[in-house]
Amino acid sequence: MTKKKAIIILAIILTTLMVFWFLSKKTEAPTVENFSLENKVNLEQAPTKIELPKETVVANNVPLLNPEKRITQKPFGVLIDPKTSPIPGERFSGYHTGTDWEIFPEEAGVDVEARAICEGEIRQKKKISGYGGVIIQNCILGGEKAVVLYGHLKLNDSPAEIGKTFFMGDKLAILGASGSADTDGERKHLHLGIKKGEEIDVRGYVSNRNELVGWLDPEKILFPPVL
Ligand SMILES: [Zn+2]
Repeated sequence: MTKKKAIIILAIILTTLMVFWFLSKKTEAPTVENFSLENKVNLEQAPTKIELPKETVVANNVPLLNPEKRITQKPFGVLIDPKTSPIPGERFSGYHTGTDWEIFPEEAGVDVEARAICEGEIRQKKKISGYGGVIIQNCILGGEKAVVLYGHLKLNDSPAEIGKTFFMGDKLAILGASGSADTDGERKHLHLGIKKGEEIDVRGYVSNRNELVGWLDPEKILFPPVL
């Protein structure tokens, strides 16, 4: 063997050894230290508890879904006058005894459920001028007796029965369609009135501001301030 050949063979052997060494480094199994570190990272990343974003949590005491996102064109206590009312063709006047929750645009042609805001017996279920379909329920709110009026409802197919107790979140009826007998010609929306005590008073407006003390502001009842 010539000197030149010997050098070439030596070079091939060295190169092969280096390749093997390099490959064995790459495929080396993780050390205990590496392995546990990886596991630790994975454990930290694994969710231990699935938390829903706050906005997807549905409150149970609301008369309509997402009331806080709805427009209230007529809040509690607002003085309504046909000339200045936000509602075109207004026919009412006086201080509003409830809160009107409007529908979302996409709800115009679909069923929108009105639900009980509390536990209590259904006292009335009938058509009343100015409202169309009305359901009236006894409630205890803030430890006090109250009478809750849900107005502008479609009473046909309503599961509410006079004398039966309905619970918070139970479906009472769907909202009447705009301009129908179920809303007495009004737009599709929910009027919610909360009268203190046990007496039924279906007035949606009072002419004297002082009379409002007989009612509670539904927004304050449903969304009490966070202390
Ligand atoms: Zn109203």
